[in-house]
Amino acid sequence: MSWAGVVDQYRARLPVGDTQAVTLHEGNTPLIEVPQLAREIGLDARVFVKYEGLNPTGSFKDRGMTVAITMAAAAGSRAVICASTGNTSAAAAAYAARAGMKAFVIVPEGKIALGKLSQALMHGAQVLEVKGGFDEAFEVVSGVAEARPVTVVNSINPYRLQGQKTAAFEICDTLGRAPDFHILPVGNAGNITAYWMGYSEYHDEGITSSRPRMMGFQAAGAAPIVEGRRVEKPETVASAIRIGNPVSWKQAEAARDESGGAINAVTDEKILDAYKLLAATEGVFAEPASAASIAGLIALHEEKVISAGATVVCTLTGHGLKDPTTAIDVNGGSTKIPADVATAIKVMGL
Ligand SMILES: *Cc1c(COP(=O)(O)O)cnc(C)c1O
Repeated sequence: MSWAGVVDQYRARLPVGDTQAVTLHEGNTPLIEVPQLAREIGLDARVFVKYEGLNPTGSFKDRGMTVAITMAAAAGSRAVICASTGNTSAAAAAYAARAGMKAFVIVPEGKIALGKLSQALMHGAQVLEVKGGFDEAFEVVSGVAEARPVTVVNSINPYRLQGQKTAAFEICDTLGRAPDFHILPVGNAGNITAYWMGYSEYHDEGITSSRPRMMGFQAAGAAPIVEGRRVEKPETVASAIRIGNPVSWKQAEAARDESGGAINAVTDEKILDAYKLLAATEGVFAEPASAASIAGLIALHEEKVISAGATVVCTLTGHGLKDPTTAIDVNGGSTKIPADVATAIKVMGL
């Protein structure tokens, strides 16, 4: 039987009763071992990437959105609204279309990666760009939702995190155990909260005998949890984690502390190095924010945090094609030549 999507696959573990799922068959993403990357950075551990870019709209946001839209549709909601750095809007627009609902998305002006903006528009969402960042966009969303009957599908919607915890189930189902370390980027901090919830549920039921240390990474220019204070003007090339005041701040700190983990910062330079390294050594293309987990892996290895032989999972939150502009920029584009064999051979250095 083909994979039915996270609601039907994990229905007994989700607060959905027997509600009919609104699904695009999200989830069941590959857990890919990346030995060449590990060797390249000199790390003697088993490293896997959970390639969430292969979800239907190209990010892990689909896991939460299927549950949020399923429940909104069942409650008779006709419209959903969200603030977004891009991927939430793409997922909201797609799942709302699937459910026959209207989607409104509020995004920071000029800061949305091309792929994400195209998706929201193609799925028929009304896209409003506001001056400011995610935090300002979210204030507009909250205000509209107080005044009008629209369902907020940002991660304050508890169904989002419920859906997202299924990624932890899949990892344990695939490995037959929990990893020793789980490394992931942190923006609004919903995903680190959701993974910890998923790992803890499997552990509490005795399905797994341990839980990983949760290692979150923020971009240095947008690191409120690391600095312990709200960042007024967050800046980073990793637009999906350009967040100054995380919605799930407290829950993320709890996940960090209960798991014996850490939330640290990585610079944009290290993020972009990791972004290129992953794509070039393993053929896996993830967006810049996702590469914060690989930059984090490298930093933890340099700090000798990861013991030899450990099992490590890094979440690659979104697909590299989401942000073609950055991909082309970091490589300086292509080389232009006349349509001539001799020139081609010469330029190729063959
Ligand atoms: C949403 C998102 C994040 C951040 O996840 P949070 O739950 O907000 O911490 C990271 N990477 C990508 C690609 C995202 O879309």
